[in-house]
Amino acid sequence: MIADTTGRPIQTLPELTPEILQRFDVAGPRYTSYPTADRFVEAFGENEFMQALEQRCMGGLAFPLSLYVHIPFCDSLCFYCACNKIVTKHHERAAEYLRYLSREVDLYVSKLGKGQTITQLHLGGGTPTFFSDDELAELMAMLGRNFVIAPTGEHSIEVDPRTVDEERLKRLAELGFNRLSFGVQDFDHEVQKAVHRIQPAEQVFDLVAIARSLGFESINVDLIYGLPKQTPESFQRTLAQVAKLRPDRIALYAYAHLPERFKPQRRIKAEDLPPPAGKLQMLSDAIAAFHADGYVYVGMDHFALPDDALAVAKRQGRLHRNFQGYSTQPDCDQISLGVSAIGRVGATYSQNTKSLEDYYDHLEQGRFPIVRGLALSRDDLVRRAVIMALMCQGRIQYESINLAYLIDFRRYFEPELIKLQEMVKDGLVEVDMHGIQVTSSGWFFVRGIAMVFDRYLQADRNRARFSKII
Ligand code: SF4
Repeated sequence: MIADTTGRPIQTLPELTPEILQRFDVAGPRYTSYPTADRFVEAFGENEFMQALEQRCMGGLAFPLSLYVHIPFCDSLCFYCACNKIVTKHHERAAEYLRYLSREVDLYVSKLGKGQTITQLHLGGGTPTFFSDDELAELMAMLGRNFVIAPTGEHSIEVDPRTVDEERLKRLAELGFNRLSFGVQDFDHEVQKAVHRIQPAEQVFDLVAIARSLGFESINVDLIYGLPKQTPESFQRTLAQVAKLRPDRIALYAYAHLPERFKPQRRIKAEDLPPPAGKLQMLSDAIAAFHADGYVYVGMDHFALPDDALAVAKRQGRLHRNFQGYSTQPDCDQISLGVSAIGRVGATYSQNTKSLEDYYDHLEQGRFPIVRGLALSRDDLVRRAVIMALMCQGRIQYESINLAYLIDFRRYFEPELIKLQEMVKDGLVEVDMHGIQVTSSGWFFVRGIAMVFDRYLQADRNRARFSKII
């Protein structure tokens, strides 16, 4: 039996009745930040951001630094896509983008000084492997000239299997990447055709085998349920192939069909989508399959083999959450480069412009391309601590929040504790004089439990912009 730090089992598969699953089939944030990005305001701009950077420099006890680089380009359009990307065949656009990334780094160096240590590096997109090997090497060299990339850190990159081969994976390993995340979504050919993303299963199997032989420490596979043409039967076949592939980590996302918000999704026919009952069946089958295959449920939509660093961190109560999802790294400030990238410095969040032209314009003028953000209030900070503790450790000890934020938890959160009572009845949380504990069933709905403490959400009934919580 695998247990968390309190000795409670975290491998128990709860009874996920259709009633419970349906009750939680509502939209909700993923809490990669709190407050969530839709609360950022334009009143927070470059000046406020520079103040936060200056404060980081003044404080002797600054958080470690994590670095995210957003590469927005993709070769072709996946119809389910809800990301900020630019679909183009013009690969020469990468070289231009790289030049501007370098200008953005120069701005950071002018404020923070050269040689800041980076403990976590992540390349995401879009498709980071849209960059050629030489461009990726140039990017890493440019980052290496300006920062100290800690060799023991997590260096991860999102990989579209259609864009890499053995040679490319070798180059990624040589460049220092030690974690790969493959976008698989579904192995079924009909589903792949319906979402315009054809990638034969053999290709993914070959790449994962090569990645293993090259010594990548952790290999993640992304899956999506609820896609067009998917059925519980077809998804069972995909799950059987995933079991054979045995990635170290699996991220299982629900497809949210919001064609009015995401233009590419208008190419998906609503009649091809599985009905809600089919979707719930796929979710329930996937959880049962991963459990049977020995995966630990990390939280939200993440599963990991018991010896993977994420599963170990969860057992030891060291799990954290940042814009890339769950992480083994302690709380970090995050510098985020590239169009639309979101960062965190001190008690602030900030986001770069989503328009490529605007991004280039800002940098031409020697200005940070920050267009919105937020300076967290004291209440935001308290609630962030509570939400992150729930999402990562699955428990709150009132005393530690009281001491850190000088509040009386039970008085401060009286309405929230009353709201939690329904979940207590459902066996999802336990509440006593000392704290709140998420149960093994509750872990599957930890986002819904965290939502109780989200002040903005409780005051806002319009949650349609978020994906479903399961
Ligand atoms: S899903 Fe990924 S690869 Fe596909 S279009 Fe969106 S960002 Fe590009």
